[in-house]
Amino acid sequence: MRIDVVSIFPEYLAALDLSLIGKARRDGLLDVNVHDLREYTHDRHRTVDDTPYGGGAGMVMKAEPWSEVLNGIRGARESAAPDERPVLIVPSPAGAVFNQKMAHDLAEEEHLVFACGRYEGIDERVVEWAGERFDVRPVSLGDYVLNGGEVAVLAMVEAVGRLIPGVVGNPESLVEESHSDGLLEYPVYTKPSEWNERPIPEVLLSGNHARIARWRRDEQFRRTAQRRPDLIAALEPAALDKDDREV
Ligand code: SAM
Repeated sequence: MRIDVVSIFPEYLAALDLSLIGKARRDGLLDVNVHDLREYTHDRHRTVDDTPYGGGAGMVMKAEPWSEVLNGIRGARESAAPDERPVLIVPSPAGAVFNQKMAHDLAEEEHLVFACGRYEGIDERVVEWAGERFDVRPVSLGDYVLNGGEVAVLAMVEAVGRLIPGVVGNPESLVEESHSDGLLEYPVYTKPSEWNERPIPEVLLSGNHARIARWRRDEQFRRTAQRRPDLIAALEPAALDKDDREV
């Protein structure tokens, strides 16, 4: 997968060189390209922002550098068929909230482009204009406001990148994770079996795989009901087995 990120703080994206995402880049599974928006300005101060029309606090990112950098992104052509256009993710607290399903959908794409806003955001005309060259998706990390899109991009690239085959060593570990089946993951433990007078649940030492699987599933329901009742309400009845219904 190819990923392009545009930011006025390209150093922020250095974390994409670390851990599993960094390894995926070195292994050729992810081709990440970071672009400095200020390189697409033409004044002495490398200006990327200006005052908002209509007044109000804060500054707005100017359209010109954005159109210049986005025009140079590989595959961004007006003539491209809509389904061949790169996906342009515009991080914004006013976007659709990012979730695991979105991460799975994006992991199927060949090319993702991220436009990191700062200040009060990007001139809205850029988003409209970009819609003729990209499949534009405003996406929010959650219902709160960050200073810029970079942290949101780090989170999204990590969530999407780990779903690309080969990035996570053992693909089994993706199957039982929180949100993979609509529930939160069960609690996990490692050695020693007793720590600070706290033994692990006895069932985990039983060697009985069916009992362990049932206990884990029950714990998923218990934890999800306690912490995220909204997820329980959204479960499809068809996804439940007979024993689930009794929990
Ligand atoms: N004035 C904007 C609003 O109220 O919707 C907020 C601008 S915010 C200070 C600056 C930039 O941070 C945004 O353009 C966006 O790129 C990023 N950002 C802030 N909160 C975010 C969130 N919850 N999810 C994704 N990106 C966010």
